Amino acid sequence: MCQWWLTYVNPYILIHLLNWCEVVFMKRTHWCGELRREHVGLEVVVNGWVHALRKVGRIVFLVVRDRSGLVQAVVTPKNPNYSLVSELSLESVVAIKGVVRLRPPNQVNPEMPTGEIEIDVKEVQVLNPAKPLPLPIFDKELMKTTSETFRLKYRYLDLRRFEMLRNLTVRAKFITALREFFNANGFIEVETPYLARSTPEGARDFLVPSRLYPGKFYSLTQSPQLFKQLLMIAGFERYYQVARCFRDEDPRADRQPEFTQFDVEMSFVTAEDVMNIVEEAMRYAFKKVFNVDLENPFPKIKYREAMDKYGIDKPDLRFELFLETVTEHVRGLIPLREGDVARALRFNFSEELTKNVEGLIKEIIPSDGKVKYVYVLRGSNDVVTNEVGLAGDLIKVFNLGIGEGLVVTSGEYIKASEAIGNLRNSLGKLLGLADKNTYKFAWVVDFPLFELDEEGRLTSMHHPFTSPKLEEIPKLDTNPLEVTAQAYDLILNGYEVGGGSIRINKRELQEKILAILGLSKDEMLDRYGFLLEALEYGAPPHGGIALGLDRLVAIALGYDNIREVIAFPKTKEMTDPMTGAPSKPPEEYLREIKWIKVLTD
Ligand code: ASP
Repeated sequence: MCQWWLTYVNPYILIHLLNWCEVVFMKRTHWCGELRREHVGLEVVVNGWVHALRKVGRIVFLVVRDRSGLVQAVVTPKNPNYSLVSELSLESVVAIKGVVRLRPPNQVNPEMPTGEIEIDVKEVQVLNPAKPLPLPIFDKELMKTTSETFRLKYRYLDLRRFEMLRNLTVRAKFITALREFFNANGFIEVETPYLARSTPEGARDFLVPSRLYPGKFYSLTQSPQLFKQLLMIAGFERYYQVARCFRDEDPRADRQPEFTQFDVEMSFVTAEDVMNIVEEAMRYAFKKVFNVDLENPFPKIKYREAMDKYGIDKPDLRFELFLETVTEHVRGLIPLREGDVARALRFNFSEELTKNVEGLIKEIIPSDGKVKYVYVLRGSNDVVTNEVGLAGDLIKVFNLGIGEGLVVTSGEYIKASEAIGNLRNSLGKLLGLADKNTYKFAWVVDFPLFELDEEGRLTSMHHPFTSPKLEEIPKLDTNPLEVTAQAYDLILNGYEVGGGSIRINKRELQEKILAILGLSKDEMLDRYGFLLEALEYGAPPHGGIALGLDRLVAIALGYDNIREVIAFPKTKEMTDPMTGAPSKPPEEYLREIKWIKVLTD
């Protein structure tokens, strides 16, 4: 179609305009961080932010920053831009043209990769002056005392810090390495829907109202679980995806309502095959990105052994500190209800850490009354305990020496064990038992297929599509809690970083499991009819895993907090202080999706 207005544009003006656009800003010829001695004598242009500015006498030293690093630029009063530059505010965006020269020997800065040279400035353009920043991004001390919520409110400034740039760059490299590995091994990357029917992973769904079907909702997928299984039924054989997962769970310090999984599924495999390929992938990515050689093979621990020795199914294996079951030792000393078990952890502590150890115990052991606990920290002069009446007896029974601590939890086996197992993981860090530079991966296998929920009902320990060990199928009718799953978790330094299983590939067994979980035939058909039907059209044996990308990268970089490796995370309270999410939509929109009608109907 003819653009009629073009006929009115004078070509000279057009060319002039284009030229003007060209000179609107001087484009970089080099990155700040790449300039070296070999560039001396070259005229260069750098683009970036004013990182620092200082005047020595009448000379202005400007440090310009871009993604690659910093470079010093020098402006003397002779420069026509002198007054402009000396007034510049920090974090303003500039384009600087000048000639690279060696710094005088006494001004060489060995700390700076570009510290041998500087730019003798010829021309400066201020592309966008900055107001004083609300966040002291380059003041390490002040940043330490700045609340995380405030950092997240100004995340785009927080992300200017080199540390955050590094974190997200490493994250990208890690994902790239995994993609490389899985591509090279015959996997196909497939995107599955985020708007779907519920895909259960044991959390609540985030619901998205459908405007076209008022009163109906999509669920944001909790994982690609069912879709990846359908891809196996479709014959894709090997699939992976970098998938966002959405789970509406109660806030917890290290939880995000949306997080990223590296999701994998394979056909015609055993659990062993999946574990092997994932191990290889981890070894490849850790070597490539962190230059770390991981153990080969990763050790495997049975779930029950993990619970007995460490109290939890994600023990930190970097240090040897084992739990004991001490029910009989403490009977008569500690009130035990019928069936209660007492579990103990004994450790050496240095006395300066007494307060921290005490604080940790109180923070970690839940105070919901389901688990009771007592601790005794025997110092050289005094004994610190939460049960003065018991301390003496416990010291005697356990023969506690000076500098030894003891924590005993009691209650139902799993609860008492988990409480002390979590404490063990954190204590390992506090007491310096866990070496920061060691990455200790392991597999936890032989999980029970089911566990009991708070109301005493059977629920899946992983998810309802996990296959039991086939030889244990008969036990499903007699003692389902004793059936072992073909499931495996990948753990690293006290965190679960992946979980998966061999899936059920026959309709009959899938229906049986759903029935054990309390679903009626109608509920099954309504929720999972499509899967049940698909299982009848040639579903191969298949299995897979999902790796928690945020957690893996956080651990590899030495963070406990996954928000440090997510560009725009939510706060612990699940809000986004920057955009104001979650927010109330305008009433008009609510009317359009018939939300108001639904609520009032
Ligand atoms: N879908 C599972 C999860 O999100 C992982 C798996 O079984 O592959 O935990």
